[in-house]
Amino acid sequence: MFWNREMETATGAELERIQLKRLKWTVKQASKIGFYQKQLAKAGIAPDDIASLDDIERLPFTKKQDLREGYPFGFLAVPKREVVRIHTTSGTTGKPTVVGYTRGDIERWAELIARDLTMIGLSEDDVFQNALGYGLFTGGLGFHYGAELIGMTVVPSATGNTRRQIEMIEDFGVTAINSTPSYAMHLAEVAEEMGAGLETLRVGTFGAEPWSGSMRKELESRLGITAYDSYGMSEMFGPGAGFECQERDGLHFWHDSYYVEIIDPATGERLGPGERGELVVTPLVKEAMPLLRYRTGDITMLYEDGCACGRGQKIARIMGRSDDMLVIRGINVFPSQIEHVLLAMPEVGEQFMVYIDRIHHLDEMTIDVEMNRDYFSGELKDLDRIQAKVTGALRETLGLRTRVNLVEPGTLPRFEGKARRVVDRRKEVW
Ligand SMILES: [Zn+2]
Repeated sequence: MFWNREMETATGAELERIQLKRLKWTVKQASKIGFYQKQLAKAGIAPDDIASLDDIERLPFTKKQDLREGYPFGFLAVPKREVVRIHTTSGTTGKPTVVGYTRGDIERWAELIARDLTMIGLSEDDVFQNALGYGLFTGGLGFHYGAELIGMTVVPSATGNTRRQIEMIEDFGVTAINSTPSYAMHLAEVAEEMGAGLETLRVGTFGAEPWSGSMRKELESRLGITAYDSYGMSEMFGPGAGFECQERDGLHFWHDSYYVEIIDPATGERLGPGERGELVVTPLVKEAMPLLRYRTGDITMLYEDGCACGRGQKIARIMGRSDDMLVIRGINVFPSQIEHVLLAMPEVGEQFMVYIDRIHHLDEMTIDVEMNRDYFSGELKDLDRIQAKVTGALRETLGLRTRVNLVEPGTLPRFEGKARRVVDRRKEVW
């Protein structure tokens, strides 16, 4: 099922033609913004110099900090009278970023969401409960417009009042729920308490925060759904930019609307398919707030082209943040990789701490891992076996030898809010 088959399945020269035309338009649009006039002049490139898609590498990057400094309207490429809506980022650190939309932007954004939801088999026969925040956050209104465009019956439940949400699912015969994965987990728990079967529910779409494969399995079994991953951010309109198809092996990133690059976050150098790095996005269809080579800070990789569903360009599920990246013996390591390895092993818990030292000029990584209480027999031969298993799995995933210490359950520090699991002691050692 396609919403816009021509765009979704475009390949080769046809896709390049669409992307190049839109890239030229986007650079022209960006050159109406003071920030980009300076940046383009500094890079020695004018909008008319864009002759091929490779020229994108001559364009400057845009960072989150640049957008903050433009607060509130420094990144608008159109007069405010043409802006029909604004959203903002959450702005947890400092001023938020204000994102403006023209009427055309709102239409193009809704189409991308309609493509996403059609791709996973939803249609006007479905009842769609949209349990994301409505308001300045892009999640609620973004999905609302797209689901309505398809003709689904939309229940704009927003967040909160969880018991009422569960009654609505049952009373209205809701077939698809859209929320953050953590709120869906909460819904599952409350539904179980209430003894609600949620029989009509069959699909869940989740995004706005990272979630693991094991969480997917749990949501699917507890809610009786097939769960799909959704990716986006306010800077790219909002949700809808990337979405899993029914293969659920990577997210389609709409290639006609976003030009995607993966770079090494340390050097800015472009990486190929299969290489893990920072996602850099140039939206190709944003009128009010065009962006050039926006550094998302999210770590992923491009897949080789081709998917059983017939659509193009896919990225892997987000693997972490570039701010969290560690360089150990020249190898890029993300704490989320360690987490994934540990989550897959029943013998250990999910608590760990990473210590990095430099010993005789060589980086050494030591990982303290809490045992799972059920496997904590105290038998030495068991401990040796588990330690070898964890060490082996980490070496396979990270491409690095690490030292693993198994510790008793409940002994590692717990964190409220963002976990600080990495202690880098390399600078302290002389
Ligand atoms: Zn696909």
